[in-house]
Formats: sequence, structure tokens, C-alpha cells
Amino acid sequence: MFGLFGNKKKDFTATINGGEATVTVKAGDNLLKAGLEAGLAWPHDCRVGSCGTCKCVIKKGKIKALTDFSYVLDGDQLKAGAALACQTILKSDVEVEVEMGDAPATQLLQLEGVISQINDLTHDIKELVIKCDGSFTRDMMAGQYAEITVADIKGARSYSFAKAPRNEQDGEFSFYIRKVPGGEFTEWLFAQDRVGTKVNLGAPYGQFYHRSSSSQMVCMAGGSGMSAIKAILEECVLEQVERNCIFLFGAQTEKDLYCDEEMQRIKQNWHKDYTFEYVTVLSADEEGSSWAGPTGFVTDYFKQAYLDTSALDINEAQGYLCGPPPMIDAAIELLKSGGIAEESIYYDKFLDASSIPGGR
Ligand SMILES: Cc1cc2nc3c(=O)[nH]c(=O)nc-3n(C[C@H](O)[C@H](O)[C@H](O)COP(=O)(O)OP(=O)(O)OC[C@H]3O[C@@H](n4cnc5c(N)ncnc54)[C@H](O)[C@@H]3O)c2cc1C
Repeated sequence: MFGLFGNKKKDFTATINGGEATVTVKAGDNLLKAGLEAGLAWPHDCRVGSCGTCKCVIKKGKIKALTDFSYVLDGDQLKAGAALACQTILKSDVEVEVEMGDAPATQLLQLEGVISQINDLTHDIKELVIKCDGSFTRDMMAGQYAEITVADIKGARSYSFAKAPRNEQDGEFSFYIRKVPGGEFTEWLFAQDRVGTKVNLGAPYGQFYHRSSSSQMVCMAGGSGMSAIKAILEECVLEQVERNCIFLFGAQTEKDLYCDEEMQRIKQNWHKDYTFEYVTVLSADEEGSSWAGPTGFVTDYFKQAYLDTSALDINEAQGYLCGPPPMIDAAIELLKSGGIAEESIYYDKFLDASSIPGGR
């Protein structure tokens, strides 16, 4: 089925779920991209072949796998024709089965813009503001992400919205971007002033967004993972959600802390009958520092201070996690062990080329 038969590059058709939808997949485009562009609520998260969320079954037709599916799918799934839609190029018309998600389907935007502002947030995190041309409807959700491409760097990079879309200035999108040592895009961004650079921006992607509920919210983030959580919290304030929330932000040292004023503003404007607690936890507090707050890994601190002491009723709680993959993996296990149902834990892992099967 996974053929490589030297077909000339051409468009093909994917018939979805026995004809519920028919999607044209342009030559070279992956199946997920075509499905999202057609407005389908195709589940997806990382779009780099690592999370498995976009899994589908190819019932008929030939495809080319861009990465080895066996990193993510097991032998039985592969035998049954399972494929990762984000890593699937068509070699013929296909018939596909996919369980559509409950996320509202939104039209994918492909916008052109320029980098209009770059602001230092910490020694290794910058705020990047992109101003896009033309008029467009902003029906993306806080927590989702955009794909950014610049001419100097091959391939697109994903960055989460750092503000609730309704809080953005007209045409603007803000992101928090951490410098990854040896990273192609981030080294480029940090090397010199890039204001004025032309950018292509595709959005919205991802299924990380606030799910309405009246239960406790437990949010955790590390590094630039502040972005998506902050955007979700801003949205909660705009919506005046009626629920308690705790947000634990993990950083190494005091010089890695940022957005304190924004968090205070969220606290002040949270629904007055409910609580919002913001806690910063430092994992590598420096000798001689005056830090008097909690220390250790954010997950260990949450366990000691909240789970072990039953200080928080997390029965029915929802977890919202964003940032580096190891922190998220640890937090998922912790929240599950504390009694939060797996399906109530939502997350966005900031995967980069080092964690993508086969690199970028
Ligand atoms: C859904 C999503 C949302 C994201 N949101 C954000 C965000 O809001 N903020 C943010 O800062 N980041 C975010 N990221 C991460 C971001 O997309 C980039 O991956 C990150 O900025 C690094 O890009 P880069 O080009 O600098 O590094 P890359 O060039 O991708 O390299 C990253 C690291 O991998 C190493 N490497 C390169 N090639 C290979 C290889 N073949 N094998 C092994 N190692 C390799 C590099 O040396 C470097 O250390 C997000 C990622 C995802 C998937």
C-alpha cells in the first residue's frame, strides 16, 4: 500500500469516511494539510509525525510516508493500514477513515506579513509580533498555534499565540520564542534585528484550547510554554469563566521569569467569585539569590504542596500543560496519578527537530 512508484507529481483525491467529504490533495501536500484546508475537524497536534493525533486508516490507494510511522504506530495499527496524515503524501486517489475531533473546524488562513516588533522578555525568550496584510476573520482560539516561514530558513516553525486572539491589535499576532542552541530558526532570529522581515503565517492549528467546565483548572508551563497558557487564561478572563484556577510556571532561575505583570492583571480580572493562583517555581535557584519562593521541579512542587496535602480538590479537574516535552510527560503522569482523567488533560508539547522522528 505504501508505494513509491514514481508517479508524476499531480493532485489526487481523498474520499473521507465513505464519502462524508472529498478532499483534493495538491501535489506535494500532506493529507492532513489538505483536510484542514478543506475545513475538516481532523484531529492534530504536532504536525511533525510525533504525537499520533492525526492517525487515520488508508482503506484504499497508495501513499508515501514522509517519516517512519512505526515511531508512533504499533505493528497491528500498521497492518490495518494506519497512517499519520501529517506525514502522508498521496501516490494515487485514496479512501480514508478518520475519527473527526470535537474541535470547531476553522478555516485555515495563509497570510503574508512582516515582523513588526521584537521585544526581549528574558535572556533567551523574545516576543515576536507579526503584522499581517489584508483583512481576515480572527476565528482562531486561544491556545492554538501558527506556522511561521521566512525566506532565509527552510521549512516552517510552529509558535503558539501568546495572546487571546481577541486581545491582539488589528492584524497582529504575538508569539514568545525561546532560543534553542543550534536551532536554525531561533539562532537566526536572535542573531540580529529582524524587524521588517517578510513572513508567511498559516493559522490556526492545534487542539489546545479552553474546554468549558466549572471544575478546577490546573495549568503548568515551562519556558516559552507561558505563551499558550497565558492566551488561554486571557480568554478565561474575557469570558469570565466561573471556575477556580491554579497556574504553576516552572523556570530555572529568577532571570527566566517574565509576564509577572500580565499574571497579576489576570488575577485582578478573574471572575470575582472564583480564585486564580499563580505560582512560580525555580528548579536551579542560584547560590546567594534572594528567592524566597518554591524551588524544585514544578511537578514535584505540585505533588508536595497540593496533591500530598490534599490542598486542592482535583476531582473532576482539567489539566492544561504547555512547554518542553519532558515537563509535559512528567506532568501528565502526575496529574493522572492524582486522579485527573487522561481525557481531561490537554497539552501542547513544544517539539523541535531533536524530538521529531528522523529530524526535520
Ligand atoms: C505545536 C507546537 C507549538 C510550539 N510553540 C512554540 C512556542 O510558542 N514558543 C517556542 O519557543 N517554541 C515553540 N515550539 C517549538 C518551535 O516550533 C521550534 O521547534 C523551536 O523554536 C526550534 O526551532 P529552531 O528552528 O530554532 O530549531 P531546529 O532547527 O528545529 O533545531 C532544534 C534542536 O534540534 C537539533 N537538531 C536539528 N536537527 C536535528 C536532527 N536531525 N536530529 C537531532 N537533533 C537535531 C538542533 O541542534 C537544535 O538543538 C512549538 C512546537 C510545536 C510542535
